[in-house]
Amino acid sequence: MNAKMIDMTKEQAPYLGTIEMEDGKILRIVRQDTFVETTGQDDVLNVQGHYVIPGMIDTHSHILMGSVQTPFPSCDSYDSIEALVVSIRARLSEITLTPNGWLKIVGYTAEQFTEQRHPTRHDLDQISRDIPILLEHASFHAVVLNTAGLERVGIGLTDDDPPQAFYTRDVSGALTGHICDFYSIPSAKRHSPQLAPESIASALAQGVASYLRAGVTELSELNVGGLYGKSEVDGVCHFLATPQKIRSRWTLQADTLNAYPAYRTTTHDDWALRFRQHSKGMATANGVKFFADGTMNLRTAALSSAYADGRQAPNPVLSSDEMYRQFVDFQQRGFHLITHAIGDVAIQRTLEAYIATARYRTANRVCRNRIEHLHTVTPTQLQLMSKYDVGGSFFTNQISVTGDLLRTTLLGAERAQQVFPTATARACGVCYTLHADAPVTPIAPLHLMHHACERRTSAGVQLGASECLSRYDALAAVTCDAAALNGVPGDQGVIRPGALADFVCLSDNPLDLDVSLLDIDVLQTIVAGKVVYTLQGDVL
Ligand SMILES: [Zn+2]
Repeated sequence: MNAKMIDMTKEQAPYLGTIEMEDGKILRIVRQDTFVETTGQDDVLNVQGHYVIPGMIDTHSHILMGSVQTPFPSCDSYDSIEALVVSIRARLSEITLTPNGWLKIVGYTAEQFTEQRHPTRHDLDQISRDIPILLEHASFHAVVLNTAGLERVGIGLTDDDPPQAFYTRDVSGALTGHICDFYSIPSAKRHSPQLAPESIASALAQGVASYLRAGVTELSELNVGGLYGKSEVDGVCHFLATPQKIRSRWTLQADTLNAYPAYRTTTHDDWALRFRQHSKGMATANGVKFFADGTMNLRTAALSSAYADGRQAPNPVLSSDEMYRQFVDFQQRGFHLITHAIGDVAIQRTLEAYIATARYRTANRVCRNRIEHLHTVTPTQLQLMSKYDVGGSFFTNQISVTGDLLRTTLLGAERAQQVFPTATARACGVCYTLHADAPVTPIAPLHLMHHACERRTSAGVQLGASECLSRYDALAAVTCDAAALNGVPGDQGVIRPGALADFVCLSDNPLDLDVSLLDIDVLQTIVAGKVVYTLQGDVL
């Protein structure tokens, strides 16, 4: 009651109204001429003239990776590799190892260290020669193993690069222990650090709070099994069996489904039913995840020309034949396909394989196939995406986070103008969303909108002004368009009779250009008609 509503059914000024709800859905919307006094009725929520928008929908994040990292030592406070090694060695006896005996350290970047390089196995061997150690890059796309760690996962010092990974070597050709896209190698993953499903479940319960605080009413975990294989699947099911405050979608990694015999013949419907039953209808399955290339910062994205610093771009991690084979298999089992592709070559290969295998899509599927991140997607590729109904999601926060690197060492000033062409995508009619890839960048859809509207690097340089989104289009990307991408247009991401009663109450109008999106507070988050977060009371 007394809500200034932005209903996202069409572009219009916010209007004052009351939303009537029943059984977690919107029954009707009554416009108000004036504010109404309420007198302590239990079933009335008076939002006192604040702005109410549909619940914001996250379509690509990693609550699993974000939540389960907390118990491990972090690299945040170290400015040199030497300091990291000395400190971890000194408190080695106090650090808890994983259940299968690994020391895991998380969240480094080469740029944070005065040495300006990735650590090596020799650095980590100074911490321990006996305990296997895994040091994880902040992007999750690279790790460094010590010598004992390489032995444990069965990687020899003179092994060739497997198809889905890049090994760094010293001058003699031996592995330094630094491996890009390590998690694409199923055999190594199964021997690396493991967590018990119970601890994964309790970490997830904690992680949900940050999403509700940010005004997210539905999250999408895009890589179940990416870190801990099958134990992650069991952890998710454990978590979903507890009362759920947020809606959720769970995307299984193709490697996880391929790695375990019990999963090899499962269908999308099997998983959807399993997640729905555990969660009493609050969660569902969300297709299968592939990786077509690596990451821009590590220069493992498959670009059509060299990086600006002269480094050659690698090929995509999956061959066209392998993509075709797997896309046919998974689509016949009812999964929609979600593929990580950053470089234009990886995007092209993915698109061609989607088009070539389109006839294997099963009839009962509601979701379109998607491409994630899309840093260097071209206008021609966007036209193809539109023509073949391929959806997408842009990682626009990267303009702020790595925009300056994109201009200098990665893409160069000219190519950097064209990253994340969101306005062109809209003009082409591509169904797309924006994502933070949390925990790579923090979960905060209002900030995501800000970066898509402003397109400024951290040094303040604007990249590609013509690609800036309007406030309305940016809000659509995290509400109604996100629902459309998820195959539920009209049911979520809008305020209209029949839609789910998921809302966010904001301190100010996100469409008002005089208000910075960074200054707007999420006052309340409401899921299925119940208040699950308030700014004063935090998570309820
Ligand atoms: Zn991601």
